[in-house]
Amino acid sequence: MSVLPAVFAGHGSPMNAIEDSPARRAWRDLGARIPRPKAILCVSAHWETDGVAVTFSEKPETIHDFRGFPRELHEMSYPAPGSPALAKRVAELLRPEPVILDANRGLDHGAWSVLAAMYPAADVPVVQLSLDRTRTGPEHYDLAKKLAPLRGEDVLVLATGNIVHNLGYYDPHRKEPYEWAARFDAKVKALIKAGDFATLAEPDGLGPDAELAIPSPEHYLPLLYILALRREKEKIGFFNEAVENAMAMTSVLIG
Ligand code: ZN
Repeated sequence: MSVLPAVFAGHGSPMNAIEDSPARRAWRDLGARIPRPKAILCVSAHWETDGVAVTFSEKPETIHDFRGFPRELHEMSYPAPGSPALAKRVAELLRPEPVILDANRGLDHGAWSVLAAMYPAADVPVVQLSLDRTRTGPEHYDLAKKLAPLRGEDVLVLATGNIVHNLGYYDPHRKEPYEWAARFDAKVKALIKAGDFATLAEPDGLGPDAELAIPSPEHYLPLLYILALRREKEKIGFFNEAVENAMAMTSVLIG
């Protein structure tokens, strides 16, 4: 049986949804290159809940969870269907963990900005899995491990966030990375290459740069959901390896 890759995409600005950029081109090329999934399970930085939840709508709405962007972006629609069947499968895999089946929640921009480039026809069903804000890093990592069978069931697991994400330092006029941002990105990449996922699962233990690179954990944690799905000795690669001021677009492809 074939096994689908697992992807962590650094999503950056919502503008990547509508504007040509190296990141957007890489997402488009990746969508065209990998085997077409039956459905997608997406873990985004932009959906945090108390407890674990999955979207359960047949037709998840497009959520515009940002302000001050051009009208085109605020009016963007990504009408991919949901998949209550996949939502139930996820709940089953995560047992005995209780999972909330949320029929009202739609897709946030962390999901659709990447998916609109990967699957522009919006014809692959999408379910989102929330980030349970009550969990520690290792607890997220252990939870994610339970999702491993999905890769053999034609489900693409796509996590989206940013390895370095500090909007307090974000400066649209500055291209070059802050030193701490470049250093932290390099450190995380080295740990990924070394397969040291236990260290990566504890963001607080990643040294002094972590405080600036991960001022809050939500953009970093999706990475753990992909690392947890790596099979033994499986290939692990990077794409969109770019750090701009206080944001790393560095993305990971497993398989
Ligand atoms: Zn974001």
